Amino acid sequence: MQKLQGIAVSPGVAIGEALVMDNEGFRIPRRFVARDAVESELERLDNAVRAAGEEIAHNRDAVAEELGHKYGAIFEAHYQMLGDTQLRRELDDMIRQRHYSPEYAVSRTLRRYGQVFQNLENRYLAERANDIFDIEKRLLRHLLGRRREGLSHLTSPVLVLAHNLTPSETANLDREFVQGFVTEVGGLGSHTAIVAEALEIPAVVGTGPFLSDVSGGDLAIIDGDQGLVILHPDEETIARYRHEKEELRTLAVQLESLRDLPAETADGVGIKLFGNIEFPYEVDHCVKRGADGIGLYRTEFLYLGAENEPDEEVHYEAYCRVVKTMGQRSVTIRTFDLGADKIAHWPSPEEERNPFLGLRSIRLALRNLPMFRTQLRAILRSSVFGRVQVMFPLVTTVLELRQAKMVLADVMEDLDERGVAFDRDMPIGMMVEVPAAVMMIDHFVDEVDFLSIGTNDLIQYTLAVDRSNADVVGLYNASDPAVLKLISMAIEAGRKKSIPVNLCGQMSGSAIYTMLLLGLGLRQFSVTPGAIPEIKKICRSVAIADCEEVARRSLTMENARDIKSYLREELRRRVPELAP
Ligand code: PEP
Ligand code: MG
Repeated sequence: MQKLQGIAVSPGVAIGEALVMDNEGFRIPRRFVARDAVESELERLDNAVRAAGEEIAHNRDAVAEELGHKYGAIFEAHYQMLGDTQLRRELDDMIRQRHYSPEYAVSRTLRRYGQVFQNLENRYLAERANDIFDIEKRLLRHLLGRRREGLSHLTSPVLVLAHNLTPSETANLDREFVQGFVTEVGGLGSHTAIVAEALEIPAVVGTGPFLSDVSGGDLAIIDGDQGLVILHPDEETIARYRHEKEELRTLAVQLESLRDLPAETADGVGIKLFGNIEFPYEVDHCVKRGADGIGLYRTEFLYLGAENEPDEEVHYEAYCRVVKTMGQRSVTIRTFDLGADKIAHWPSPEEERNPFLGLRSIRLALRNLPMFRTQLRAILRSSVFGRVQVMFPLVTTVLELRQAKMVLADVMEDLDERGVAFDRDMPIGMMVEVPAAVMMIDHFVDEVDFLSIGTNDLIQYTLAVDRSNADVVGLYNASDPAVLKLISMAIEAGRKKSIPVNLCGQMSGSAIYTMLLLGLGLRQFSVTPGAIPEIKKICRSVAIADCEEVARRSLTMENARDIKSYLREELRRRVPELAP
């Protein structure tokens, strides 16, 4: 049994067989083969070596003819290495004597060779390691054949263990069969983590390297509450986790009974609980949990993973599905927040050195007006079917906000001229997720109908910590007093101006912050749909006066650790069943 500690990003427990992906997205098969399959596996290796050899010889001849023998010699070296008898003997022995699969034998042996080269002092020789990795990939391609298809064509339940998954790869995971996932890299606020919650499967990221210790078909447990991954669990551990799964199910059933009750504090203050969604189908998850509306629709997921830029009709259909389902409940559609870790195929950005500080979000929209206008048209057209609000992400300056509003006004005028119906009074809001926006919040509140605080980005830009980097996860902290002060300022500015203030970062769905946020004056939370029952339970269990005391005390503390343990203790005291 082997335990790995990572970062918990989506709750729940999953127990099942591993599907292992290497860092190029190859599916790595089982490590062992049956004793009676050894001869046929050796033959498979033979075929792969022969096919790879023919390919290399072809490349060698073609390159030599085009560019001369000096360049053809690069491939000749690969050819020689592939035909090396010592290498071949090692591979055969691993299959024959240790019953390793040919893929595993190839990967293990060639990586070991490659590492020896990499560690050489001589730079020229060290770079030869890449030639060896190239041979490894070529052999694996031939061995894996159709099984290279990665995560498609699943036929049974699996836990995906991968080096990394991008937000769009995660979005495309097969919801029928993928029961949970683990990645070696990744941080707390990454969009990969956010999509895991949308899929409602347990997930752990940022475990560090472990894929070489596991192979396809091995048994594993993902504990998405503790951020734990257990490889090769023993019977006792499996039984314990099965029991825990049962308990979680019982708690979920208890919370479900709150579905039709209002989110109201013990002293009668009404709170609104909205859902965050990434995909239209999640609107059903929100209805099921009794959400008061959609507080954040991350529309950029329409672009991610799509082959071409979605046209107006694709947008329109998606928005109509959500808006019509919610009826008289409000739907806040955020204009696309592409860039940083959410990269679509277009507009194809240059590789940026600091993508989180680069051309993302509203900046990208203002540079790609036709794309922006297409989306705004679809949002406006959908507004006749319900209560739509539009929201601009990552607004940093007042001028930027005014520019976005001008584009919207222009699109409205166009629709008017064409006689297309839309809600003329559609509320316009902005995300507050850059410290500069908080500093200037008194100006912003004169320009918008509502604010929504995006703590995922606000934390990263305030504390200068990349939200998707596991190496600095200890520094990424919602409890930081600087972050709390900024949140407090934004809530207060909205209150003074009497405009609604929502909070839609991951923090609003985390039980330990509910009392603090209520105490700071927040009356609207937008959370991943699965968290709605829990947050409602806390709201209904506490009184505002107590929350104000919690907020007041928190704001006097000077470090995140003290604040967090104080908040944890307060939650344990008042709603023990939900304390972490
Ligand atoms: C946020 O930054 O808190 C937010 C809600 O936006 P996203 O997570 O999509 O960047
Ligand atoms: Mg954000």
